[in-house]
Amino acid sequence: MPAFPPDPSNPWVAHPRLAPHAIPGRADHVRVRVHAGGPRVSKLAPRVAEVRVTGGDGYAFFGILAEPVSGLEPLARGSTIRFVAPEDGSAPLLVTDRYLAERPHWTIHPCEHCGLGELYDAPSDLIKATFPELGAAETPRLFATICGACGGSQLVQHDSFVASDEASTRA
Ligand SMILES: [Zn+2]
Repeated sequence: MPAFPPDPSNPWVAHPRLAPHAIPGRADHVRVRVHAGGPRVSKLAPRVAEVRVTGGDGYAFFGILAEPVSGLEPLARGSTIRFVAPEDGSAPLLVTDRYLAERPHWTIHPCEHCGLGELYDAPSDLIKATFPELGAAETPRLFATICGACGGSQLVQHDSFVASDEASTRA
């Protein structure tokens, strides 16, 4: 992905994944899906909020909440959040630092219904919420979850899944 910002006077909304979600007349402001977790983790309904983009790397960005978010009070106006701009072109999505740390090790197969290839929760948080009876050594390397955007189904696969599968075939 090319280096951004390309234009110092209008830096972030020119990013190809942010441009469709820019707020007209509000330079570097975009609409972001904010939430307290997906359906497995939080009962609070996601919202869409205006965010001023302040930085980014690849498809992950920093921004400042430009409005209060009712119903998700921990997200006060002025909070710095992280968000990703999904490959499917849907609206940017709030993520946690843990999500960004874990994300490179997982393949998220796009939702069968809406095509979203990101999760509302870090894989470790989803595993804890979905399989509370499992010990740390039994962490699943492939599991299905509920899409935070539409309630469809997403398949989440760890990097180690294929390798260990091949090893057991050879044995
Ligand atoms: Zn979906």
